[in-house]
Amino acid sequence: MIKRIQLLAVLIIFLFIFEYFGNVKKGEIIHKTMSYGYQSSPMVCNSLSFCTPVLSSNIITLTSTPTLGIPEEKITENVKVDEKINTPLKNHYCLNVPVLTYHRIQPQSVAIEKGQTAGSVDNRVFDQQMAYLVSNGYHTITAEELVNALKNHSGLSPKSIVITLDDGYENAYSYALPIIRKYNVVINLMVATGLVGSPNFLSWDQIKEMKASGLVYLTSHTWSHYAIGRGSQDKIQYEIQTAKQQLEQNTGQAINIFAYPYGSFSPSAIQILQQDGFIGAFSTISGFLQCDSYIMTLHRSHIGNAPLSAYGL
Ligand SMILES: [Zn+2]
Repeated sequence: MIKRIQLLAVLIIFLFIFEYFGNVKKGEIIHKTMSYGYQSSPMVCNSLSFCTPVLSSNIITLTSTPTLGIPEEKITENVKVDEKINTPLKNHYCLNVPVLTYHRIQPQSVAIEKGQTAGSVDNRVFDQQMAYLVSNGYHTITAEELVNALKNHSGLSPKSIVITLDDGYENAYSYALPIIRKYNVVINLMVATGLVGSPNFLSWDQIKEMKASGLVYLTSHTWSHYAIGRGSQDKIQYEIQTAKQQLEQNTGQAINIFAYPYGSFSPSAIQILQQDGFIGAFSTISGFLQCDSYIMTLHRSHIGNAPLSAYGL
């Protein structure tokens, strides 16, 4: 009997070691310390009938983000996230607030035709997703409200949620705006100001009209959709300051929240942002838990064409 127990114990230890080193090899240990709570994010969703949520990987895939009207660029970098920046520290203030990431809202047929399915949600699906949020009692808030609550250690309405729409594509006006008006939900438009007025991007007039709806809060997404985790200090400074100036001058809204293009950030980029008056910023690290200890790299969840319940909502 004792021998059997000993044998079992040895087997368990062996399995544990095997699993551990397997994980280290795949880098999952890093993921496990970084990811707080459930996260699944369908990164690839090529047709409405084939949308399977895929577990996010520990390596941050700087997917998406179409730039300058150039074909969608997929940058994949193995970014080792600075755990010091992204770990909730003891006694720090955290709130469980999902931040949803969208890029393009347009008919899936258009997305397929243009090869934009990875960063696109069908407008009818978006309509259903907003209906779901409303009927399930979610309360949409601005990115600034979340940041201020973390900063001031204050509470938020139950089931608060932040919706972000990146880059400033024209379909934010033609498809998203009517839907957010219909459901009276608040969205946060992350604008790369250098792209405003380019083909397929919003014009300043459209951005002003969106803001005038009272449902659209503006945040910076750099000037040229630049990965500020790299590059010279001067270039980073230029990207941040130019976008802030252009947004403030054109819309009259103070700009103090930022979203990192490609999810790219670095300690020095964060320092520059803070010097320029930014009080919060959003990364592409997935997770619903938001903490003041990483207020400059808050977490977001990529949303595709699956029902929102598939993302843990
Ligand atoms: Zn972007």
